[in-house]
Amino acid sequence: MRNELLNWFAREKLLLTDVLTSGDDPEHDEIKITVKPPLVALSRADSDFRECPDPVDFGYPPDCLDYMTLDDMHAFVLSWYEKAVEAGLVKCFVCNKILDMGDEKPWDAVFVSNPMYCWLLVHFDCKRYLNRDLRGRHPFEVSSARPEYFDFFLD
Ligand SMILES: [Zn+2]
Repeated sequence: MRNELLNWFAREKLLLTDVLTSGDDPEHDEIKITVKPPLVALSRADSDFRECPDPVDFGYPPDCLDYMTLDDMHAFVLSWYEKAVEAGLVKCFVCNKILDMGDEKPWDAVFVSNPMYCWLLVHFDCKRYLNRDLRGRHPFEVSSARPEYFDFFLD
């Protein structure tokens, strides 16, 4: 992830920080700080978490992060998700069924903040079970791959 995007998440207060101290030897106290930016989930499977896509990789202007708000980021991530759903890559975080762009089983993009910052997609009808499926996850134990690339047109 580019530093600019990390800094943007820091500015929006969306970075989680994990501080590890190795206290055995007080002379050489080592502090390890890890930060975790928000993720996007294609499903609830461990292998389906992705780093947040970078708007610049999808045709946004190089300086877009200077003026993007969190709402802009939500809109961008939703565009990315719509492409992923069209490609048949996304499953409902609760019932694990593949989502589509049809009207029959509508879904919503949700940005959760507990136990980690993460976008995910869930059917309207499944939303009430979401907390159950988020419980027990540890943000620093979730690994994430690079996000899929989609070619999308900007309005
Ligand atoms: Zn569902």
